[in-house]
Amino acid sequence: MQKTVFITGASSGIGKACAEVLAKAGYNLLLCARRHEKLVQLKHELSNLYPTIHIHTFELDVRHAQEVQQAITALPEEWKKIDVLINNAGLSQGLDPIQTGNIDDWDRMIDTNIKGFLYVSRQVIPLMEATGAGHIVNLGSIAGKEVYPNGNVYCATKHAVDALNKAMRIDLLPKGIKVTGINPGMVETEFSEVRFKGDTERAAHVYDGLTPLSGTDIAETILFVLSRPAHVCINDLLIMPTAQA
Ligand code: NDP
Repeated sequence: MQKTVFITGASSGIGKACAEVLAKAGYNLLLCARRHEKLVQLKHELSNLYPTIHIHTFELDVRHAQEVQQAITALPEEWKKIDVLINNAGLSQGLDPIQTGNIDDWDRMIDTNIKGFLYVSRQVIPLMEATGAGHIVNLGSIAGKEVYPNGNVYCATKHAVDALNKAMRIDLLPKGIKVTGINPGMVETEFSEVRFKGDTERAAHVYDGLTPLSGTDIAETILFVLSRPAHVCINDLLIMPTAQA
């Protein structure tokens, strides 16, 4: 039977690559992000490539608890059997010391990376519990294991994801739900452009001197994690560009 994966933040980068790789592997796709037009385009492309899978897209800003609850409650019944959740939506904004940090940037990161993560999980876990099975993949970061200069608030949000990943595993494994943390180093996506608020030149220099990971590198790792047999749970993975390690 075809499995369904729900990917948050599927409009670009790692989330989009997960949609592409998992579609090829035969998963049905439930995709959300704020830029719905990008999801519609992705659905069109993937439906042409893989006509036997089903794809459902919806616009969602994960920062709003009520919006998340309403959107997931309103899903057609056939889309409420979710086998895999990839908690991927996230961002970094700014790279400043705390004393000059932009408070709006902090709020955006905390609201998306921690609260959004929780709001989506809060709605999806009961759907998995009802079936007695599931797999949740949480996009953490090397920034959730270490800290770097001026990474303060972003690193704090990813340390929170790391803690929540462990906490979820303790609570959910007895219910038949696996939980895996995926923690990448530098991945070439829209991430740096978002961090530097559209300053593409500054964003381009982030990868000077090294070959970054691609979204596909991460997505293929996630496919490997998902395709382990029932008795194997990969708890946590750190994936680095060779030159960054
Ligand atoms: P991208 O900027 O390419 O993708 C981020 C995705 O998150 C987009 O699809 C965006 O969609 C979505 N998103 C952001 N805010 C919201 C929101 N409020 N509601 C719903 N969706 C949202 O970056 P990446 O693919 O690199 O990032 C994906 C994850 O990987 C993030 O959690 C990031 O922290 C993590 N990561 C990235 C690394 C990197 O070097 N790139 C390294 C380690 C971890 P939209 O704007 O359409 O809403």
